[in-house]
Amino acid sequence: MPWKRALADKWQAYLRQQMEIGGGEVYLAAGQRGSGAGGPESLAAPQPRSPAAPPAAVSWQRGAPPIPGPGLTIDLPPADLLGDGLGTLDTLTAVAARIAACTLCGLSKGRKNTVPGEGSPSADLMLVGEGPGATEDETGRPFVGAAGELLTQILGSIGIPRESVFIANVVKCRPPQNRKPLPDESTACLPYLRRQVQLVRPKVILALGATAAESLLGVRKSLGELRGAVHSYGGVPLVVTYHPAALLRNPNWKKPTWDDVRIARQLLDR
Ligand code: SF4
Repeated sequence: MPWKRALADKWQAYLRQQMEIGGGEVYLAAGQRGSGAGGPESLAAPQPRSPAAPPAAVSWQRGAPPIPGPGLTIDLPPADLLGDGLGTLDTLTAVAARIAACTLCGLSKGRKNTVPGEGSPSADLMLVGEGPGATEDETGRPFVGAAGELLTQILGSIGIPRESVFIANVVKCRPPQNRKPLPDESTACLPYLRRQVQLVRPKVILALGATAAESLLGVRKSLGELRGAVHSYGGVPLVVTYHPAALLRNPNWKKPTWDDVRIARQLLDR
């Protein structure tokens, strides 16, 4: 029956997505259990009881870790102390225009495009990465290419459409050879991100990778030390996880990332 096929396809796509991002255990219909070790061909289509049987039986909530305790607290300067009149910029578009003309650090010399960030101006979830790569520099958009696709997939697995979040980086211009931004480059660029946070006013920030987390939190610590706590960034809960590009290099980090994003998802629901 066509509706059965459509539902089975929907299930399989969802389950593949869960396994792809490292959700080792997924809920299957009675008598069917899968693990991350199984390939898509091992996924038997569930038998729905009715055409209306929802795919919600597979849930990001199952086995989600509890929300951890508090971590570091970062107070943001008020808007009028951000410098360069940034506090007077009342829209993300105005901030992006200021970034487009910025020459505050040496990264301006090698860029093709600035990458200010994009997404919903009233996003509940804000994602912050390290800096633009080659494709981002070409397009002026954050998190495009393979890492961006994985990020979109991760968001989808917790029921969040990519269009509903705001995605930005610590530095808005591409560092040469994709090296880490230097401390003076991050320091010069950070006020833009702070203003973006003030304008978007997200409920949760997800820092992607150690460099983003260190820059936001103003510390030199490993990712392992910064994960596992809910930090406060100007009063906004901040969760640290791996950068999607790192996940493409090391699939072992997919499971901890899956846990981190489910913590962020729970914070959104609080
Ligand atoms: S990285 Fe930031 S501070 Fe440096 S030139 Fe680009 S926009 Fe300006």
